[in-house]
Amino acid sequence: DEKTDEKVSEMLNDVIILLSTHASLFKIELQLQIREDMHIHCDRSQLKQVFINLIKNAIEEMSDGGIIQTIVERQNNCCVISIIDQGPGIPKHLIHKLKEPFFTTKKNGTGLGLMISNQIIENHHGYLEIKSEKNIGSTFSIYIPLN
Ligand code: ADP
Ligand code: MG
Repeated sequence: DEKTDEKVSEMLNDVIILLSTHASLFKIELQLQIREDMHIHCDRSQLKQVFINLIKNAIEEMSDGGIIQTIVERQNNCCVISIIDQGPGIPKHLIHKLKEPFFTTKKNGTGLGLMISNQIIENHHGYLEIKSEKNIGSTFSIYIPLN
């Protein structure tokens, strides 16, 4: 396949540079915290597309501006990339629908971003965890096993 060894901080830096001008139009600051940098064996462009999808979704939920934090850390034998927003959150009973195709709450949404992201993560033997708390925000964590 197309997989190569890539530095996680580099991929995320690229994505955050790409999206930060757009985010600042909405008074949103994109922060990146690398607690531990890692190399992962991955399809670089596909994984960057996942980061773009998740950060774009976060931007679209934060109509009042704020901070979107991306944290990279190691948990056991996994690289964990968490995207944390300050949006309105997702009702508990809808969380399981988010990875289904065509589920959207947006007027012009496709409802495909999370389905495709989840598929890409599974192609890397990983897992997408979704946590949310009403009026506090949502956290999307990508778990990618290391080697
Ligand atoms: P789209 O962005 O086209 O709606 P996605 O698959 O990317 O499709 O997302 C599906 C739905 O999941 C969104 O319409 C929204 O309801 C919900 N969602 C995704 N990300 C977030 C988030 N960060 N906070 C709250 N809801 C979210
Ligand atoms: Mg989307």
